[in-house]
Amino acid sequence: MPDFTYLLIGGGMAADAAARGIRELDRDGDIGVLSEEPDPPYARPPLSKGLWRGEPLESVWKDTASLGVTLLLGKRAVRIEPAARQVVDQRGATYGWHKLLIASGGRVRKLVAAQASDRLIYFRTVADYRRLRELAGKGKRAVVIGGGFIGSEVAAALALAECKVTMVISGAGIGANVFPLDLVRFLNGYYEERGVTLLVNQSAIGIRKTGRRHAVAVLGGADVPADAVVAGLGIQPNAELAEEAGLAVEDGVLVDERLRALPAGGGAARPAVWAAGDVARVFSPALGRKIRVEHEDAALTMGRYAGRAMAGADDGPYTHLPFFYSDLFDLGYEAVGELDARLEIVADWKVPFREGVLYYLDHRRLRGVLLWGVVGKVDAARDLIAEPREWDAGSLKGRIP
Ligand SMILES: Cc1cc2nc3c(=O)[nH]c(=O)nc-3n(C[C@H](O)[C@H](O)[C@H](O)COP(=O)(O)OP(=O)(O)OC[C@H]3O[C@@H](n4cnc5c(N)ncnc54)[C@H](O)[C@@H]3O)c2cc1C
Repeated sequence: MPDFTYLLIGGGMAADAAARGIRELDRDGDIGVLSEEPDPPYARPPLSKGLWRGEPLESVWKDTASLGVTLLLGKRAVRIEPAARQVVDQRGATYGWHKLLIASGGRVRKLVAAQASDRLIYFRTVADYRRLRELAGKGKRAVVIGGGFIGSEVAAALALAECKVTMVISGAGIGANVFPLDLVRFLNGYYEERGVTLLVNQSAIGIRKTGRRHAVAVLGGADVPADAVVAGLGIQPNAELAEEAGLAVEDGVLVDERLRALPAGGGAARPAVWAAGDVARVFSPALGRKIRVEHEDAALTMGRYAGRAMAGADDGPYTHLPFFYSDLFDLGYEAVGELDARLEIVADWKVPFREGVLYYLDHRRLRGVLLWGVVGKVDAARDLIAEPREWDAGSLKGRIP
């Protein structure tokens, strides 16, 4: 049985960042990266952005192997045995560890009633990107289900690839869960000007195959013919392994302020098990509650922090409030904290829908900041959110110039 000083479950961005964190302190310790994917760690954000704007596929690889780690690819951890300090994979092989990181990320939500189809892609991995590239191209009909982060980015990417794109969105439009309605309506029009057809307030229920033709079935509406279908329906954390190993799971693996996994039923953290990235839920002092953030900055900062901690660093509590970003054609934004369209939103536009700052308030406490077409202000936004005071439109406007 291979026996690692550090075993990382998951081969994503958090695991890569953890391996780098370990190497900041420990140049020689054995690191094993156990990943279900056949590909080595890579950056996911370019899959729906840069790669459609001319960046080469080679640019996504993280080059984790150069850190002197053992990449165990195509291997899915099916059981963690904390007492024996080992992990078992899908073929029954076992891997020993002295320190373990759970960085198993999330898996895509699927359409409830959809038949399996080689045209349907739940977009998450570089394999999904490769498959979509095979199906996409000038004049090809692409249907994107969902108007959230992934759906809106992939729809823009496919339009740039000269596909005929239709979006089927169950809500009011693009980003309806996070943006105020006037911005959603602007985005709907903006996409339509770029040739994207929007079917809003409509639910896709599956794929219908007639001979060699494929179409997306829409509840109460006409089928939409498709050469490629991308569903961006969000993810759920891969936390079952942790739960079965007796760790506390609340829509994600619960960790303490040092990212150590907490046991189910309460008590002190497990001394040798950490969790980071999309799968981990940690208390945020700035927001005053536990958060699980499905964004790159969280994967990178938590991963590095956990890796350093595993190698013996004492960096104090993890208090970082992650930022995130997105590109929609030539619009872009950065954001910090909680963006939820149900909160009170104070909009401070310099140029309506092109450049401005939107503040998200919950009972007058600032919870999130959207920097629309504004760059370099993430730290200022973080500082404002951390201020323990009440706000209103008057006191917020102009705060981030
Ligand atoms: C297309 C796309 C675009 C994105 N764009 C942005 C963006 O613009 N900005 C932003 O902030 N964020 C973006 N994100 C989100 C960001 O990529 C994620 O937050 C980040 O990848 C999370 O990293 P992670 O390592 O925690 O999890 P993941 O990247 O999900 O990696 C987890 C890995 O663990 C593996 N795994 C799971 N279970 C097991 C198991 N039992 N055994 C072994 N291996 C296992 C998985 O196969 C996977 O390789 C995007 C995501 C996608 C998919």
